[in-house]
Amino acid sequence: MDAVSAKLDVGLDVGATKTLGVAITQDGTIVAEVREQTRLGADGVVDTATRVFAALREATGERLQGTVGVGVPGLVDVDLGAVKHAVNLGVDGEWLRLRDLLSHRLDLAVVVENDVNAAALGACALDDAEDIAYISIGTGLAAGLVLGGRLRRGAHGAAGEVGHVSVDPLGAACQCGQRGCLETIASGSALASAWPTPDAPAASALFAAAARGDAAAVVVRDRLCAGVASAARVLSLTVDPVSIYLGGGVAQVGEPLRTGVQQALRDQAAGSPFLTSLDLAGRIRVVPANYPVAAVGAALLGR
Ligand SMILES: [Zn+2]
Repeated sequence: MDAVSAKLDVGLDVGATKTLGVAITQDGTIVAEVREQTRLGADGVVDTATRVFAALREATGERLQGTVGVGVPGLVDVDLGAVKHAVNLGVDGEWLRLRDLLSHRLDLAVVVENDVNAAALGACALDDAEDIAYISIGTGLAAGLVLGGRLRRGAHGAAGEVGHVSVDPLGAACQCGQRGCLETIASGSALASAWPTPDAPAASALFAAAARGDAAAVVVRDRLCAGVASAARVLSLTVDPVSIYLGGGVAQVGEPLRTGVQQALRDQAAGSPFLTSLDLAGRIRVVPANYPVAAVGAALLGR
Protein backbone atom coordinates (compact mmCIF):
# COMPACT_ATOMS: atom_id res chain seq x y z
CA MET A 1 0.00 0.00 0.00
CA ASP A 2 2.86 2.36 0.81
CA ALA A 3 4.16 2.51 -2.74
CA VAL A 4 0.70 3.47 -3.99
CA SER A 5 -0.16 5.86 -1.18
CA ALA A 6 3.05 7.78 -1.67
CA LYS A 7 1.64 8.90 -4.98
CA LEU A 8 -1.54 10.59 -3.79
CA ASP A 9 -1.95 14.08 -5.23
CA VAL A 10 -3.72 16.76 -3.22
CA GLY A 11 -5.82 19.58 -4.64
CA LEU A 12 -7.69 22.36 -2.87
CA ASP A 13 -10.51 24.43 -4.35
CA VAL A 14 -10.83 27.61 -2.30
CA GLY A 15 -14.28 29.14 -2.77
CA ALA A 16 -16.08 32.02 -1.10
CA THR A 17 -18.30 29.70 0.96
CA LYS A 18 -16.40 26.42 1.04
CA THR A 19 -12.88 25.11 0.65
CA LEU A 20 -12.93 21.64 -0.87
CA GLY A 21 -9.94 19.34 -0.80
CA VAL A 22 -9.32 16.00 -2.49
CA ALA A 23 -6.61 13.38 -2.49
CA ILE A 24 -6.47 11.42 -5.75
CA THR A 25 -4.51 8.43 -6.98
CA GLN A 26 -2.42 8.48 -10.15
CA ASP A 27 -5.41 7.24 -12.18
CA GLY A 28 -7.58 10.06 -10.81
CA THR A 29 -9.62 8.07 -8.30
CA ILE A 30 -10.71 10.26 -5.38
CA VAL A 31 -9.69 8.52 -2.14
CA ALA A 32 -10.54 11.35 0.24
CA GLU A 33 -12.70 14.45 0.04
CA VAL A 34 -12.99 17.14 2.70
CA ARG A 35 -14.94 20.38 2.77
CA GLU A 36 -14.86 23.18 5.28
CA GLN A 37 -16.44 26.60 5.46
CA THR A 38 -13.94 29.18 4.17
CA ARG A 39 -12.87 31.84 6.64
CA LEU A 40 -12.54 35.05 4.67
CA GLY A 41 -9.57 37.39 4.47
CA ALA A 42 -5.92 36.55 3.86
CA ASP A 43 -5.33 34.79 7.21
CA GLY A 44 -8.68 33.03 7.01
CA VAL A 45 -7.99 31.60 3.55
CA VAL A 46 -4.57 30.29 4.60
CA ASP A 47 -5.94 28.87 7.88
CA THR A 48 -8.84 27.14 6.12
CA ALA A 49 -6.58 25.61 3.47
CA THR A 50 -4.25 24.38 6.23
CA ARG A 51 -7.17 22.79 8.12
CA VAL A 52 -8.50 21.07 4.98
CA PHE A 53 -5.06 19.70 4.19
CA ALA A 54 -4.72 18.37 7.76
CA ALA A 55 -8.13 16.69 7.49
CA LEU A 56 -7.10 15.03 4.21
CA ARG A 57 -3.94 13.75 5.85
CA GLU A 58 -6.04 12.40 8.71
CA ALA A 59 -8.55 10.77 6.32
CA THR A 60 -5.91 9.07 4.18
CA GLY A 61 -3.68 8.14 7.10
CA GLU A 62 -0.75 9.23 4.99
CA ARG A 63 2.09 11.64 5.09
CA LEU A 64 0.98 13.39 1.94
CA GLN A 65 3.97 14.46 -0.09
CA GLY A 66 4.66 16.15 -3.37
CA THR A 67 3.16 19.42 -4.53
CA VAL A 68 -0.20 20.69 -3.31
CA GLY A 69 -2.30 22.36 -6.02
CA VAL A 70 -4.62 25.21 -5.07
CA GLY A 71 -7.37 26.76 -7.19
CA VAL A 72 -8.61 30.22 -6.18
CA PRO A 73 -10.99 32.75 -7.73
CA GLY A 74 -9.60 36.10 -8.80
CA LEU A 75 -6.54 37.25 -10.67
CA VAL A 76 -3.68 34.78 -10.20
CA ASP A 77 -0.01 35.37 -10.94
CA VAL A 78 1.16 31.77 -11.30
CA ASP A 79 4.87 32.67 -11.27
CA LEU A 80 4.43 34.70 -8.10
CA GLY A 81 2.02 32.16 -6.61
CA ALA A 82 -0.17 35.09 -5.66
CA VAL A 83 -3.80 36.17 -5.98
CA LYS A 84 -5.65 39.49 -5.96
CA HIS A 85 -9.09 40.87 -6.83
CA ALA A 86 -10.66 37.84 -5.13
CA VAL A 87 -13.29 40.10 -3.60
CA ASN A 88 -15.54 37.20 -2.54
CA LEU A 89 -12.68 35.78 -0.46
CA GLY A 90 -12.08 39.13 1.21
CA VAL A 91 -8.79 39.37 -0.71
CA ASP A 92 -8.43 42.59 -2.67
CA GLY A 93 -5.85 45.31 -3.21
CA GLU A 94 -2.39 43.91 -2.54
CA TRP A 95 -1.22 40.58 -3.97
CA LEU A 96 -1.74 37.75 -1.47
CA ARG A 97 1.28 35.46 -1.77
CA LEU A 98 -0.76 32.35 -1.12
CA ARG A 99 1.85 29.89 -2.44
CA ASP A 100 4.60 30.99 -0.04
CA LEU A 101 2.29 31.43 2.96
CA LEU A 102 0.70 28.02 2.51
CA SER A 103 3.95 26.28 1.60
CA HIS A 104 5.43 27.58 4.87
CA ARG A 105 2.45 26.25 6.87
CA LEU A 106 2.35 22.82 5.17
CA ASP A 107 6.10 22.44 4.74
CA LEU A 108 5.39 21.29 1.18
CA ALA A 109 5.63 22.80 -2.28
CA VAL A 110 2.44 24.58 -3.37
CA VAL A 111 1.25 25.74 -6.78
CA VAL A 112 -1.57 28.29 -7.14
CA GLU A 113 -3.86 28.63 -10.16
CA ASN A 114 -7.09 30.41 -11.06
CA ASP A 115 -10.01 28.16 -10.13
CA VAL A 116 -11.57 28.13 -13.61
CA ASN A 117 -8.25 27.05 -15.10
CA ALA A 118 -7.93 24.35 -12.44
CA ALA A 119 -11.45 23.17 -13.26
CA ALA A 120 -10.56 22.99 -16.97
CA LEU A 121 -7.79 20.53 -16.09
CA GLY A 122 -10.25 18.56 -13.95
CA ALA A 123 -12.75 18.46 -16.83
CA CYS A 124 -10.05 17.29 -19.22
CA ALA A 125 -9.41 14.36 -16.87
CA LEU A 126 -13.04 13.28 -17.50
CA ASP A 127 -12.43 13.16 -21.24
CA ASP A 128 -10.34 11.08 -23.63
CA ALA A 129 -9.52 14.23 -25.58
CA GLU A 130 -6.53 16.54 -25.13
CA ASP A 131 -8.35 19.62 -26.45
CA ILE A 132 -11.26 20.74 -24.30
CA ALA A 133 -12.93 23.96 -23.21
CA TYR A 134 -14.53 24.39 -19.80
CA ILE A 135 -17.18 27.09 -19.37
CA SER A 136 -17.77 28.16 -15.78
CA ILE A 137 -21.26 29.60 -15.31
CA GLY A 138 -21.08 30.89 -11.76
CA THR A 139 -21.64 34.44 -10.52
CA GLY A 140 -19.75 35.41 -13.67
CA LEU A 141 -18.95 33.68 -16.95
CA ALA A 142 -15.44 32.53 -17.86
CA ALA A 143 -13.74 29.67 -19.62
CA GLY A 144 -10.59 27.63 -19.24
CA LEU A 145 -8.78 25.95 -22.11
CA VAL A 146 -6.72 22.77 -22.19
CA LEU A 147 -5.06 22.31 -25.58
CA GLY A 148 -2.72 19.49 -26.44
CA GLY A 149 -3.18 18.31 -22.85
CA ARG A 150 -1.83 21.58 -21.44
CA LEU A 151 -3.52 24.45 -19.72
CA ARG A 152 -3.42 27.62 -21.85
CA ARG A 153 -3.46 30.83 -19.85
CA GLY A 154 -2.47 33.21 -22.64
CA ALA A 155 0.20 35.90 -22.57
CA HIS A 156 -1.66 37.95 -19.92
CA GLY A 157 -3.71 35.23 -18.25
CA ALA A 158 -6.79 36.37 -20.16
CA ALA A 159 -7.28 33.31 -22.39
CA GLY A 160 -10.88 32.13 -22.11
CA GLU A 161 -12.29 35.41 -20.73
CA VAL A 162 -15.22 34.88 -23.04
CA GLY A 163 -17.67 36.37 -20.53
CA HIS A 164 -16.43 39.80 -21.60
CA VAL A 165 -17.08 39.35 -25.29
CA SER A 166 -19.64 42.09 -25.92
CA VAL A 167 -22.50 40.92 -28.15
CA ASP A 168 -24.82 43.90 -27.69
CA PRO A 169 -23.45 47.47 -27.64
CA LEU A 170 -26.82 48.64 -26.26
CA GLY A 171 -26.99 45.88 -23.64
CA ALA A 172 -26.69 46.00 -19.87
CA ALA A 173 -23.61 47.61 -18.29
CA CYS A 174 -21.02 45.03 -17.30
CA GLN A 175 -18.73 45.29 -14.27
CA CYS A 176 -15.79 45.30 -16.72
CA GLY A 177 -16.92 48.67 -18.13
CA GLN A 178 -18.32 47.44 -21.44
CA ARG A 179 -21.95 46.91 -22.36
CA GLY A 180 -23.78 43.77 -23.41
CA CYS A 181 -21.05 41.29 -22.44
CA LEU A 182 -22.02 37.60 -22.52
CA GLU A 183 -21.67 37.67 -18.72
CA THR A 184 -24.62 40.10 -18.54
CA ILE A 185 -26.74 37.47 -20.36
CA ALA A 186 -25.41 34.10 -19.21
CA SER A 187 -24.33 34.01 -15.56
CA GLY A 188 -25.71 33.59 -12.09
CA SER A 189 -25.76 37.36 -11.57
CA ALA A 190 -27.54 37.93 -14.92
CA LEU A 191 -30.12 35.34 -13.90
CA ALA A 192 -30.60 36.97 -10.49
CA SER A 193 -31.41 40.35 -12.04
CA ALA A 194 -33.58 38.97 -14.86
CA TRP A 195 -35.56 36.52 -12.72
CA PRO A 196 -35.32 37.24 -8.98
CA THR A 197 -36.49 34.34 -6.82
CA PRO A 198 -36.32 33.46 -3.12
CA ASP A 199 -35.79 29.82 -4.11
CA ALA A 200 -32.33 28.29 -4.08
CA PRO A 201 -30.64 27.31 -6.21
CA ALA A 202 -32.11 30.01 -8.44
CA ALA A 203 -31.08 28.37 -11.72
CA SER A 204 -32.87 25.13 -10.84
CA ALA A 205 -35.98 27.12 -9.86
CA LEU A 206 -35.84 28.95 -13.20
CA PHE A 207 -35.54 25.76 -15.26
CA ALA A 208 -38.32 24.09 -13.26
CA ALA A 209 -40.64 27.08 -13.78
CA ALA A 210 -39.83 27.13 -17.50
CA ALA A 211 -40.54 23.40 -17.75
CA ARG A 212 -43.96 24.06 -16.14
CA GLY A 213 -44.67 26.57 -18.92
CA ASP A 214 -44.12 29.85 -17.02
CA ALA A 215 -43.78 32.20 -20.00
CA ALA A 216 -41.45 34.69 -18.26
CA ALA A 217 -39.19 31.86 -17.08
CA VAL A 218 -39.05 30.42 -20.61
CA VAL A 219 -37.80 33.75 -21.97
CA VAL A 220 -35.07 34.07 -19.31
CA ARG A 221 -34.04 30.40 -19.63
CA ASP A 222 -33.79 30.60 -23.40
CA ARG A 223 -31.77 33.82 -23.24
CA LEU A 224 -29.40 32.25 -20.71
CA CYS A 225 -28.96 29.16 -22.89
CA ALA A 226 -28.40 31.32 -25.97
CA GLY A 227 -25.69 33.24 -24.11
CA VAL A 228 -23.90 30.06 -23.04
CA ALA A 229 -24.26 28.77 -26.61
CA SER A 230 -22.65 31.97 -27.92
CA ALA A 231 -19.73 31.49 -25.52
CA ALA A 232 -19.37 27.89 -26.75
CA ARG A 233 -19.51 29.08 -30.37
CA VAL A 234 -16.83 31.74 -29.84
CA LEU A 235 -14.54 29.21 -28.12
CA SER A 236 -15.17 26.57 -30.78
CA LEU A 237 -14.46 28.87 -33.68
CA THR A 238 -11.26 30.01 -31.94
CA VAL A 239 -9.68 26.76 -30.71
CA ASP A 240 -11.98 23.98 -32.02
CA PRO A 241 -12.09 21.79 -28.86
CA VAL A 242 -13.31 18.19 -28.98
CA SER A 243 -15.55 18.70 -25.94
CA ILE A 244 -17.03 21.70 -24.18
CA TYR A 245 -17.81 21.20 -20.50
CA LEU A 246 -20.32 23.31 -18.57
CA GLY A 247 -19.56 23.77 -14.88
CA GLY A 248 -20.04 26.27 -12.06
CA GLY A 249 -23.08 26.88 -9.87
CA VAL A 250 -25.61 27.36 -12.69
CA ALA A 251 -24.49 24.07 -14.28
CA GLN A 252 -25.80 22.23 -11.20
CA VAL A 253 -29.05 22.32 -13.21
CA GLY A 254 -27.51 19.44 -15.16
CA GLU A 255 -29.28 17.81 -18.11
CA PRO A 256 -31.89 20.55 -18.71
CA LEU A 257 -29.07 23.07 -19.11
CA ARG A 258 -27.19 20.80 -21.48
CA THR A 259 -30.22 20.20 -23.69
CA GLY A 260 -31.14 23.91 -23.58
CA VAL A 261 -27.66 24.97 -24.72
CA GLN A 262 -27.63 22.27 -27.39
CA GLN A 263 -30.98 23.52 -28.72
CA ALA A 264 -29.65 27.09 -28.77
CA LEU A 265 -26.57 25.95 -30.71
CA ARG A 266 -28.77 24.17 -33.26
CA ASP A 267 -30.94 27.28 -33.58
CA GLN A 268 -27.84 29.45 -34.09
CA ALA A 269 -26.55 27.02 -36.74
CA ALA A 270 -29.86 26.91 -38.64
CA GLY A 271 -29.29 28.29 -42.13
CA SER A 272 -25.52 27.81 -41.89
CA PRO A 273 -24.27 24.56 -43.40
CA PHE A 274 -20.81 25.60 -42.12
CA LEU A 275 -21.87 25.82 -38.44
CA THR A 276 -24.11 22.77 -38.78
CA SER A 277 -21.18 20.73 -40.11
CA LEU A 278 -19.17 21.55 -36.96
CA ASP A 279 -21.82 19.91 -34.73
CA LEU A 280 -21.12 22.21 -31.77
CA ALA A 281 -24.22 20.87 -29.98
CA GLY A 282 -22.72 17.39 -30.01
CA ARG A 283 -19.65 18.64 -28.11
CA ILE A 284 -21.53 19.96 -25.04
CA ARG A 285 -21.10 18.06 -21.75
CA VAL A 286 -22.08 18.93 -18.19
CA VAL A 287 -19.71 18.23 -15.32
CA PRO A 288 -21.34 15.41 -13.30
CA ALA A 289 -23.23 16.55 -10.20
CA ASN A 290 -21.07 16.66 -7.07
CA TYR A 291 -17.87 15.96 -9.01
CA PRO A 292 -15.24 18.27 -7.43
CA VAL A 293 -13.86 19.33 -10.79
CA ALA A 294 -11.71 22.28 -9.63
CA ALA A 295 -10.19 20.39 -6.68
CA VAL A 296 -9.32 17.42 -8.90
CA GLY A 297 -7.81 19.81 -11.46
CA ALA A 298 -5.84 21.52 -8.69
CA ALA A 299 -4.45 18.12 -7.66
CA LEU A 300 -3.33 17.56 -11.26
CA LEU A 301 -1.51 20.93 -11.24
CA GLY A 302 1.03 19.53 -8.83
CA ARG A 303 2.17 16.80 -11.21
ZN1 LIG B 1 -17.77 42.55 -19.36
